[in-house]
Amino acid sequence: MPVVVRVRRTPADDGSHRHIVGVELREGGLRTTQQVIVGISRGEVWRTQGTGGASARIREAECCPAVDCGLGPCLTTAPDHSAASNIDALRAY
Ligand SMILES: [Zn+2]
Repeated sequence: MPVVVRVRRTPADDGSHRHIVGVELREGGLRTTQQVIVGISRGEVWRTQGTGGASARIREAECCPAVDCGLGPCLTTAPDHSAASNIDALRAY
């Protein structure tokens, strides 16, 4: 099972927020957001591992939650309430 420990973010075109464009795996190696989404759509289970070992399942979101953005698909996590395991809270690389 792929476990994501860090994420790569790039600014949106208008600079108002950032998008996750890639992930780093615990066992080493980088994947693009598109590769993660393809894996999830094949039925693979992808998880985050945040501080203290907290973990959440990665899900595909139809589009970016930022107002007036609409870029998609994006990555989100479920449950999404934990700051320790939320994909948006992972360290950057
Ligand atoms: Zn966006």
